Amino acid sequence: MNNITFPLSKRATTATSSAIREILKITERPDIISFAGGLPSPEGFPIAKIREAYETVMTHHPKVALQYGPTEGYRPLREWVVSDFKKRGVEITVDNVLIVSGSQQALDLIGKLFIDEGSKVLLESPSYLGAIQSFNQYGPVYNTIPTDEGGLMPEGLTDEIAKAARFIYALPNYQNPTGRTLSLERRIALVKRCAELNLPLVEDDPYGELRFEGEELPGLFALSQQYGGTVIRMGSFSKVLAPGMRIGFIIAPAAIISKMVQLKQATDLHTASITQMAVYEAIKDGFLDEHLPKVRELYKRQCHYMLEALEEHFAGIDVKWTRPAGGMFIWLTFPKGVNTTELLARAVEEQKVAYVPGQPFYPAATEPVTNTLRLSFVTVPEEKIRQGIAGLAKLFK
Ligand code: PMP
Repeated sequence: MNNITFPLSKRATTATSSAIREILKITERPDIISFAGGLPSPEGFPIAKIREAYETVMTHHPKVALQYGPTEGYRPLREWVVSDFKKRGVEITVDNVLIVSGSQQALDLIGKLFIDEGSKVLLESPSYLGAIQSFNQYGPVYNTIPTDEGGLMPEGLTDEIAKAARFIYALPNYQNPTGRTLSLERRIALVKRCAELNLPLVEDDPYGELRFEGEELPGLFALSQQYGGTVIRMGSFSKVLAPGMRIGFIIAPAAIISKMVQLKQATDLHTASITQMAVYEAIKDGFLDEHLPKVRELYKRQCHYMLEALEEHFAGIDVKWTRPAGGMFIWLTFPKGVNTTELLARAVEEQKVAYVPGQPFYPAATEPVTNTLRLSFVTVPEEKIRQGIAGLAKLFK
């Protein structure tokens, strides 16, 4: 705010770039091993396929690709989403699908749709930082649902906690930041409980396709078709194709999609036509069936390297970590009293390693939770994973 000499909106004034983000800027230095980023591995980007897809779009449909399009999104891509969910037993139509500019835009639209200043919003604790930042713009008050090793505890959704809440936001698969997966029993219990309470359930699942361990479980939206209730499901092509394309989608009852279309119109009219068409062109003939197993294999290997390094170097240190069944993150919990926020600067300076401290992932904590941290295992090569984990172990010893 140094050189702004005129009043800004309250929203802009209260928006902050976190202290952590400032420290993490340093991690762009090549001498730093960074487990901090939430970036997918570029090794998994299907570069040739995407180049070819743009080429095809620009050769065969340039006038559509370069023109304004409907807010709802490119119809063939919406139809693809319908057929993809049908394969998993989910019955929807194109009227249930809105294409968005990354699922981050979906989070913003959820905020716009539900939150007035002071509205109550329910989150897992900890929860995805990007969602918290998005919702924060609209001034909610957070209440959290208790979690344990198995993730969100549906029985924690008491009448008292749920009272007057606008929605609950949940990440059932390899949650960001903890890497935890919600069991089938808990998924069913959560969906049933939300149905009883008439509480909208927002399901964020950008990593669902990146399972590398165990059986695929039905999503919350799929379960709502059996057990009732209103689920708004967010999905993304960021982790299955490439995040730079910024293509995601929302699946919801048609009336909610119509409202969101109005809200999205005010933001950006529609998501880039050419990019939606390129995504469709790339995936329409089943490309993901051959591509995703490679990404899963890569992430599985990377996760394994990190778990091995943790077992080797953290032996004898009082700490627990999660063993994710997919996705990108491992979550470490130290005894109370360890302050990972304070230790980050030393990790970077002394050990040349970066992580994300857990504290900002707990938006409603009455006291700061400082004894957790998040590690991403996907972008760092094996040798550097070992070196970086050894460095962290030195620091935490
Ligand atoms: N939700 C979660 C849980 C995420 O981890 C991310 C990406 N880090 C997003 C949403 C946003 O993804 P995108 O906008 O790229 O679809």
